[in-house]
Amino acid sequence: MIRSSRWLDRVLVGGVLLLLVAITTIVVLQAGRERARNNGSPTAAAIVPTTAALPPPLATPLASSVATPLAGNVVCLDLGHGGMDWGNVRLEDEQVVLREKDLTLTTGLDLARRLRSDGLTVVTTRDTDTEANPANADVNGDGIVASPDDQANSDELDDQQARVNICNEAGADLLVSIHYNAAENTALEGFEVWYNDQRPFSDQSERLATLVHEELATRLTAAGLDATDRGIGIEDHAVTGPERPHELAPSEMPGVVVEGLFLSNDDDAAFIQTPGGEEAIVTAYERAIRAYFGASAG
Ligand SMILES: [Zn+2]
Repeated sequence: MIRSSRWLDRVLVGGVLLLLVAITTIVVLQAGRERARNNGSPTAAAIVPTTAALPPPLATPLASSVATPLAGNVVCLDLGHGGMDWGNVRLEDEQVVLREKDLTLTTGLDLARRLRSDGLTVVTTRDTDTEANPANADVNGDGIVASPDDQANSDELDDQQARVNICNEAGADLLVSIHYNAAENTALEGFEVWYNDQRPFSDQSERLATLVHEELATRLTAAGLDATDRGIGIEDHAVTGPERPHELAPSEMPGVVVEGLFLSNDDDAAFIQTPGGEEAIVTAYERAIRAYFGASAG
């Protein structure tokens, strides 16, 4: 019995040792497979670059365009008028010296550049000196198009519907229509912001109007113009609504129409033509749009 017991003990001890060796071998082999899988996988290699491939550390934090509330939002900028539609003009000695369509193009393209570098996605209703519907298509389907002796290449409602469609098709979160004012009374001066109060999102349009209005007041004053604040108004506008059955399908996002300054006023016109003047207006738009999306004004 004793001998049997010893023999049994040896067998048991030997079996346990063999088991331990086998388990250790399996663990080592598994670990080796894990390493091989990670090293061999292109995905893993792409996500975890080697230390040598990392860029040098930045001296300053990344620009605010990265990971801000702005990323992923789409802004539609409507650059008023264009092509044969000059919009408002300034006359001096019966000569046209300023055209609204040129100023809205400059302001709009400058603003688009700024907003893109802020991280926003920007669509514009035009990028060149053209109408929004130069082909004279019946965009709103009312059967009316421009005739050859008309002043513009497009029926005005078709032009406006083309602008609205660009913003809607882009799925824009915001619409900003850029304009400059003029009047026969050359004493009239200052800035106005308009929105429509009949849309489901009119409270957001009003919030944007308030932001643009505040920023224009601040930026124009800071740039040295004693600008007249003509306030915030409510209007029916082809671009911002409301819906006009059989005439216009409305824009589907909060929006404002901004009348910068008066081309017909001497002080306003002189200011607009200075680099600091244009800069102040673009900055006002930019800060208001940033604030609308919850980013710091920058
Ligand atoms: Zn205009």
